[in-house]
Amino acid sequence: MANTIEGATGTWEYVIGLEVHAQIISNSKLFSGASTEFGADPNAQVSPIDAGMPGMLPVINMTCIEQAVRTGLALNGTINTHSVFDRKNYFYPDLPQGYQISQYKQPVVSEGNLTIDMEDGETRDIGIERLHVEQDAGKSLHDQDPASSYVDLNRSGIGLMEIVSKPDLRSPEEAGAYVRKLRSILRYVGTCDGNMQEGSLRVDANVSVRKPGGELGTRCEIKNLNSMRFMQRAIEYEAMRQIDVLEAGGEVDQETRLFDANRGETRSMRSKEEAHDYRYFPDPDLLPLRLEQAWIDGIGETLPELPDAKKDRFMAEFSLSAYDAGVLVAEQENAAFYEEVADGRDKKLAANWVISELFGQLNKAGKTVDESPVSAAAMGELLDLIADGTISGRTAKDVFTDMFETGKAAGAIVEEKGLKQVSDTGAIEAVIDEVMAREDAKVAEYRGGKDKLFGFFVGQVMKASGGKANPKVVNELLRKKLDG
Ligand code: ADP
Ligand code: MG
Repeated sequence: MANTIEGATGTWEYVIGLEVHAQIISNSKLFSGASTEFGADPNAQVSPIDAGMPGMLPVINMTCIEQAVRTGLALNGTINTHSVFDRKNYFYPDLPQGYQISQYKQPVVSEGNLTIDMEDGETRDIGIERLHVEQDAGKSLHDQDPASSYVDLNRSGIGLMEIVSKPDLRSPEEAGAYVRKLRSILRYVGTCDGNMQEGSLRVDANVSVRKPGGELGTRCEIKNLNSMRFMQRAIEYEAMRQIDVLEAGGEVDQETRLFDANRGETRSMRSKEEAHDYRYFPDPDLLPLRLEQAWIDGIGETLPELPDAKKDRFMAEFSLSAYDAGVLVAEQENAAFYEEVADGRDKKLAANWVISELFGQLNKAGKTVDESPVSAAAMGELLDLIADGTISGRTAKDVFTDMFETGKAAGAIVEEKGLKQVSDTGAIEAVIDEVMAREDAKVAEYRGGKDKLFGFFVGQVMKASGGKANPKVVNELLRKKLDG
């Protein structure tokens, strides 16, 4: 995937803005006391409010607002001390109230930004237009019965943050980097678990194309993308489709589209509804939301060190590359694991081991760092064995695989399998003598000026020692004996 697309009439540029719906972490729903836990039996977590019973009054759950403010602060947003809940009216079988309580003209957060990190180490600032709080809808189930559809209202009324970016993204990769970074921040501050499979993070992608630097084109909105891969493919497909339309002399209709993952294409769902179609008006059951500045400031004081700050610190304090630091800070747990391994040890070595060996094994096993069979302390002990020359780095990789599979300590495995590296000069000298006697012709060649053979002797000595000789000692002694 590239940043631009070559069409028949020249180069085109992507313009992308994302609307992310993030389910707020809170025990109960936005306006009712019903549980938000995932995976319950259908309609087991529905209060009369969530079912849209007449005469019920919504009561705001301030935990949800606190979570939205936390998120807004983490996104460098302006927290509005005065915001308003509106009714967004539409009919849908999974929306029993006949309207969604949302925020429209006066959201709780406006004007933030976040920094995306690209593969090549480049970063870009992406504007965030707003973050508002709203209710989630229920779910229509069409696959339970051939003749009828069912409605599950467990999700109805769960608090969502809708986070709307400016149209600042310029490629499918940037859109991916934006969602990854946003998810990372949400997890750091503990306001959304970011689980796309369970639907706690859903993305609508707005896509248009233009000739570089030209006016913004007409956009289409692709709804409910629930995986990073689908999102990127949908954006790419949609941009191509629009270019085909435009280059054939047509116009792009502003519409809402769906991505069909099986066919890899987007298709029209409905022409874009306008705000006035929803007849927004302030919900008469809810007073405007007023927040005290001191309360907001108090939330700000509890924010953890965020990914960007942590990345800068890892680069400055530990001299890590931007890439390594970026990988380590993406998840808070990973960063904490790394810091424990690196404490009092070689920072760069620790980073290599955590990124290549630990993440490699975790990936293969489909586990997170919290489920790692090797603790940070245990990994640290292994690195100590490399540092003090007990085992070589090469042997350590095998020991680590063993630790990961059996949960045993590094020292115990080295002991059991007799992997201790031989650094004893007497023992190594004996092996060298034996190799030199056997390869006397090569020794003569070497001494006659064929320096390249040195590596051959190192290899032979390592082999004869069963891979256990300390390579550094082998090198030193060989030089002395061959050259002397
Ligand atoms: P709506 O309420 O109709 O969805 P918004 O103004 O809230 O409209 O914009 C929704 C999203 O569309 C935002 O993420 C914004 O960045 C994006 N957007 C606006 N104009 C364009 C455009 N020309 N091309 C691509 N995305 C756009
Ligand atoms: Mg929208």
